[in-house]
Amino acid sequence: MLTSWLARTSEQYSLITAADLIAGLGLKTSGVDLDRYTPEPILNALAKRSTCTAERLREMTLAGCTPWLLDSTDPVECDFDTYVHQLSVLLPPGLAMADRRRRTPPAGTWLPWVSTLTTRACPLCIDDLDTAADIAVMMAQQCPMLTSCTKHHCRLEFCAVIPGRLIFWDRTSPGSDEHAPPLPVAAAVAEIDRRSITALTSGAVELGGGRVHAAVWFRLLRTVVDEVSTPLVRTGWWAKPLSAIWKSTGHSRPLRTSWIPFEQLRWDEQATVMLAAATAIIAVENDEIFADGTGAALLRPRGYEPVDAGTPTTRLHGPEPVRSAWDDVQAAIDAVVAEARVNIETATALFGFARTGCRTEEDIDDLAYAFVELGIRLD
Ligand SMILES: [Zn+2]
Repeated sequence: MLTSWLARTSEQYSLITAADLIAGLGLKTSGVDLDRYTPEPILNALAKRSTCTAERLREMTLAGCTPWLLDSTDPVECDFDTYVHQLSVLLPPGLAMADRRRRTPPAGTWLPWVSTLTTRACPLCIDDLDTAADIAVMMAQQCPMLTSCTKHHCRLEFCAVIPGRLIFWDRTSPGSDEHAPPLPVAAAVAEIDRRSITALTSGAVELGGGRVHAAVWFRLLRTVVDEVSTPLVRTGWWAKPLSAIWKSTGHSRPLRTSWIPFEQLRWDEQATVMLAAATAIIAVENDEIFADGTGAALLRPRGYEPVDAGTPTTRLHGPEPVRSAWDDVQAAIDAVVAEARVNIETATALFGFARTGCRTEEDIDDLAYAFVELGIRLD
């Protein structure tokens, strides 16, 4: 984040402060959230005074994430429906939208993925640093769509940072200032976070249906967040797959999700909703749940497209396959299994034959189970 960079830079040159760095630029900076949007003249002036380019400095602000993550840093230019309901994934188009009035923020007050700024960092990444001078606060890690460190797959932890100097963790080990042991995150969450970071850094992400632009990924993710937040009573038949998703997360849906936009939920509620959204996306990709949204096709692998083998121009002569007596045994087994499925006497005879190889009661149980799996009924 830009304020983090300013603080670290001024720390290196102990005689100047962050205020000095931006002072004398002849610009009004009071009341301006530098991490959200820094006016271009300030970026250019800072770039002249440092080794960073204005472009690199802009990337440290939320404005540097437009239009990938959000359309604009001005809430007046961010429309909730355009961002959240253009796509649909789990629910048929329009179903989550019909319920939207209850959790649509008043116009001009909302920015996607922007919550009250709290400082989060990965404790293991900080442990890896050689010097406290490198303690930096990353922009992406402050956005609620990320809950884990993509390198260590552990939960991001709340902290207070004096950039370049000190870090105070909210969660500490008993009787110490050190951070408590890191908490691992679910595999689905780690995978979704990996994609979000890839999208932010490379501008695109690879999905089952092909490569999509970062802007599509973040809108699709926000759509799923809204869909898993839709109260079950509003979703008719779709309540079934939705409640299956929540059940598999092991958490219940935070009630406030029905009427409060995701960005304004508490951190623990946001993390629970992100877990459900991540679980849902992976389940759609693995074809484990039925999804009827228009955007679901982006997640699923492309269908098999047969390629015409064409007609060979000359006849191919391959060596005749060598026949073995074992082929007959295989065929005989298949035939007897098929008959045993419909003939109880054959089934009993086959079971009697097969159990001669069993040495323990357990072996016999396993054999009976194998018969059940083959569809052979044993009385
Ligand atoms: Zn880490």
